[in-house]
Amino acid sequence: MDQPTINVAEIARQTLRQLASRGLPPTPENYAALFAELSGSRPEHAVSRAPRDRTSEAAAPAGLELGRLVLDLLHEWERSQAGLSQLHKRQALANLAAKAPAMGVLPWLASLADLVQHWAALPARQPLSGAEPSEPAPLDAAEGGAAGAWRRLWTQSLRYGLLPYCRDESIKARARELLAASEDGSADLDALTAQARELWIHWERVQEETASVVEGLMGLVDLMLDHLVDWLGPDDRAAAQVQLIHGLLHEALNPEHIDRAREVFKELVYQQGVAKKSGDDAREAAKALISLVVRSLAEFADQSARTNESLAQDLARLEQSEDWDEIRSIVQDVLLRGRELHSGSAALGAQLEQARQEAAAAQARIEALEQELQQASVKLQEDPLTGALNRRGLDQAFARETARAARSGTPLSVALLDLDHFKAINDHYGHDFGDQVLRALVDLSRRLMRPTDLIARIGGEEFLILLPDADAARAHRALSRLLQAFRTQRLTDPGTGRRVEVSFSAGVAEWCVGESFTHLYRRVDAALLRAKAAGRQRVELAEP
Ligand code: GH3
Ligand code: MG
Ligand code: MG
Repeated sequence: MDQPTINVAEIARQTLRQLASRGLPPTPENYAALFAELSGSRPEHAVSRAPRDRTSEAAAPAGLELGRLVLDLLHEWERSQAGLSQLHKRQALANLAAKAPAMGVLPWLASLADLVQHWAALPARQPLSGAEPSEPAPLDAAEGGAAGAWRRLWTQSLRYGLLPYCRDESIKARARELLAASEDGSADLDALTAQARELWIHWERVQEETASVVEGLMGLVDLMLDHLVDWLGPDDRAAAQVQLIHGLLHEALNPEHIDRAREVFKELVYQQGVAKKSGDDAREAAKALISLVVRSLAEFADQSARTNESLAQDLARLEQSEDWDEIRSIVQDVLLRGRELHSGSAALGAQLEQARQEAAAAQARIEALEQELQQASVKLQEDPLTGALNRRGLDQAFARETARAARSGTPLSVALLDLDHFKAINDHYGHDFGDQVLRALVDLSRRLMRPTDLIARIGGEEFLILLPDADAARAHRALSRLLQAFRTQRLTDPGTGRRVEVSFSAGVAEWCVGESFTHLYRRVDAALLRAKAAGRQRVELAEP
């Protein structure tokens, strides 16, 4: 009590020793409790029973001092000091430890404090470490244990997060170098941080380049497609397909849309190929015709030139002649030439007639071919069961009709229909009867709706009707009429001959200029769901 500082230090030393000998975790709480116990301010069991008990007033200053020393030692141990290797540090500590038995605890602690102070006075080592390549990677003191975690995170990010997904070879090569440097510890954390930043910046630049390449390609595609539509004229069948491709690529640039656009383009190329073949046939026929005409004309010109020449000579002779015999012979010659000329034209006429017939035959062949093409193309767009348009046909019709509506400023509406309780109908009356119902709906819509309306089957029992020149209200009326007719038509159970009740639910929406099919479908589908939820057999208007 006469020398409180020394006493407190001694107790602190004992406290450390006891912590170790009792195998207690060196937490501040344990330290404080043990200190209190040794200094007599707490009973012995306070340590184990109440390790979190409040620190006694007396423990605080010495505890803080020693704690500080331990923390400083840790800090300096992990820090990279200029001119001080990890090996040096280990040796210095080992030397000090060897002296411990001969020294008193307090002088020993003071020596330790001196050593730590000496390390702390040294400046940090420069990040680029070429001087001591063989040394193990020093951990950044400020990061403490987090430095190791950071290094692990970094190597794992490179190995599993970047390398498998990166396609750029320059980045991959750099990432591999960094990975090797991080793993063998040849780069310290400061250097690694700088290199990581450099890598991210490089990657960002590559990403930007990729994005601008995509943007550039899209611009090019736009330009080509626009030009193609101008070239084809907006009413050309192919133009609608081109616009469809355009729309698909603009809606969202995802693999699905690109695939569909590619499909449509393939079909376009196929159709153009067939069209070109018929065009080639036409050209061949025309060439044959022209060559025939030219040949005939050449012969004609040849003949008439000869005839004209002879006529001119005859006329000259006629003018000079005074001899009647000679005049008679000249007239006879002229008559003869006239007959030659006549027979020449007759031969020419026959040739021309033959050419005309050949041309007509070629024309007929071309028309038949075009019709075949048309039919093949229609078949490709048709649902075989009901004869309604299929999804492909709908895509084209939608592209065509929206383009037309946008051009003419007329409204365009769509209706999405889904048969009610169709599974039950199938289950109850059989699949064939179900098919009959599907066909009946399509037939009925063809009879009841306007000739310009188009019906497409887009799912098992889901149909979409395009109503050009109809606003939402008009489309709603048309669908309500169709529903009424569908419900009241006679469809009889093949087994019992009894009438079967069928119905559908529908959503109706008016297309907004520029609206994508996906967006329109979402609106009209929501309306259909409302119709189902509200009890089926009804037509609901979509939200605008
Ligand atoms: P909801 O009123 O809610 O629409 O009920 P639902 O039974 O009509 O709807 P769900 O989607 O459960 O059933 C659709 C049925 O349509 C199931 C399937 O057997 C039938 N279906 C799909 N395609 C065809 C087809 O080509 N022919 C026939 N006969 N049935 C089909
Ligand atoms: Mg359905
Ligand atoms: Mg259904």
